[in-house]
Amino acid sequence: MTSKKPAAREMMRAFMNADPAYDGIFWTGVKTTQIFCRPSCPARKPKPENVEFFFTPKEALFTGYRACKRCRPMASAEEATPAWATQLLRLAEGSTTRITAKHLRDLSIDEARARRYFQRNFGMTFAQFARSQRLSQSLAQLNRGTKIDDAAIDGGYESLSGFRDAFASTFGKPPGRARNQVRIVSKLINTPVGRLLAGATEEGVCLLEYTDRKMLEKQLKTVQRRFKAPIVPGSNKQLATLERELFEYFSGKRRSFSVAVVSPGSPFQQRVWKERQRIPYGKTTSYSVLAAKLGSPGAMRAVGNANAMNRVSILIPCHRVVREGGQLGGYGGGFWRKQWLLDHERGARTRQRK
Ligand SMILES: [Zn+2]
Repeated sequence: MTSKKPAAREMMRAFMNADPAYDGIFWTGVKTTQIFCRPSCPARKPKPENVEFFFTPKEALFTGYRACKRCRPMASAEEATPAWATQLLRLAEGSTTRITAKHLRDLSIDEARARRYFQRNFGMTFAQFARSQRLSQSLAQLNRGTKIDDAAIDGGYESLSGFRDAFASTFGKPPGRARNQVRIVSKLINTPVGRLLAGATEEGVCLLEYTDRKMLEKQLKTVQRRFKAPIVPGSNKQLATLERELFEYFSGKRRSFSVAVVSPGSPFQQRVWKERQRIPYGKTTSYSVLAAKLGSPGAMRAVGNANAMNRVSILIPCHRVVREGGQLGGYGGGFWRKQWLLDHERGARTRQRK
């Protein structure tokens, strides 16, 4: 991928004109259909206000989009996609049947190799990928009023019970109760420290994570499990507030956030996160001081782990926890981001004193 990214206006123009020169440079998601495409997609173009842009197919997938069956945006992800992987992607994107190890053997594709490839490129195994594509399609059907039996057949399930089980294990409830269920709406937010994937229920923000972070997939799964809710692209009141407040924060005009945070976790994690939110803007605390405050001076490692499990970056300010003696210590989003955020907060403090 090139580091130079086209401007939104340029991308919109390229997409509306179905310009193939932009294939592989960006991808478009259509919020109303929850489907993502490459720019040259021949399908009818949506209204511009429903379009959002991605710079990797993975971002679109993690935001809750499904791949378009017409333009196959995953297959064109990289020119270097090996032929066997393209075959697999076609199978997953166009398939209404379950893809098994036997399918892979019939295509002479090595299962372990396929697993590694998908893990590396899409953050999940091929089986997970294919399954999530099929199930989110079923969910969309149910929401349009399709009968459960029909959704099961269309989803390629041999039995209704198989469909119910797969559905329940992904969305935490049977398909019959899936209509109008709680959803986590998600969108990408650009910031000076990179792209963040934000997720929120009606109650508050439950996810704010750097899209290039390895933990992202795990965090997404945890969030879906904890809230028993699928992730779908879109926006709501909470995300709109978050976006505005993040903008103010990065402009040096905001020191604390008012948007609600919902972050379920173990009682210990809850305490760590709560204590962390008390560290003032521009200040830092060490792991050991934090552990002592929590009444267990030996719990430094646990504090560090709770730090790593934080799903709501910046709002729960892990970056303000440093090592004894002023060393920065680790940060899920990477050392440079921690440094950047701390510098930013200190800079804003100096500006205000003047
Ligand atoms: Zn398309």
